[in-house]
Amino acid sequence: MTAAIAVMAALSAVLAVCAAPASAAAGYDVERCGNTSGRVLLTLDDWSVEDPDRIVRAGDFLQGRGVRAAFFLVNNYAERYPRITAALRRQGHWVGNHSYSHPHLPALTENAAREEIRNGLRSTLLRPPFGDYGPRETALAAELGYRICTWTLDTRDWVKTGEQFPGPDVLRARVREAPAAVKRSGVVLGHLFTRFPDALPGIVDDLHGQGYRLCRNSGPTTENIRNPLDC
Ligand SMILES: [Zn+2]
Repeated sequence: MTAAIAVMAALSAVLAVCAAPASAAAGYDVERCGNTSGRVLLTLDDWSVEDPDRIVRAGDFLQGRGVRAAFFLVNNYAERYPRITAALRRQGHWVGNHSYSHPHLPALTENAAREEIRNGLRSTLLRPPFGDYGPRETALAAELGYRICTWTLDTRDWVKTGEQFPGPDVLRARVREAPAAVKRSGVVLGHLFTRFPDALPGIVDDLHGQGYRLCRNSGPTTENIRNPLDC
């Protein structure tokens, strides 16, 4: 009887560990997405509706500079262009889940939030739309096999002045002038529908000029993005 209780106690301890959200795993930093490398991870979100191949061109540029980035694609677009996800992974980039239709997950019912994640692009990293998540989303992500990944440096490329997104030089300066604490082992947020892709050459040059290293492109990736990140 005592032995059986001991076994049950041991089993429930194991289950408690397994049930803990992945993002609560020891040392996992949601804002750094498991980047402990010292290197900078560039991330590009959402989609480019007018010119989907712009996504592949951004990936191609970064591959040419030996850089591995992470693309978080909204799946109601990405699912119609499987060649784009395949091309990015072939180029050596990570492609992660950014939900199916980009809602504020905490505003949804639990079932609707679960379906948004489940129908997102299959991966092991989830970037919640708008960076909006709470304990419920962390638990749902873990249940579905994801770690939540936000960012340390928002370039605010998505904030328009009048009708205009900020230009490449403005975005480049924002990254250049950001403090070391958000760049070293950091995660930079930009978007595929803004001028951020146009700013990439300047951003990469500036980071190198400042002595930072970027996540290295070590060849094709899969949907399984490991923790810590292989930067
Ligand atoms: Zn987004």
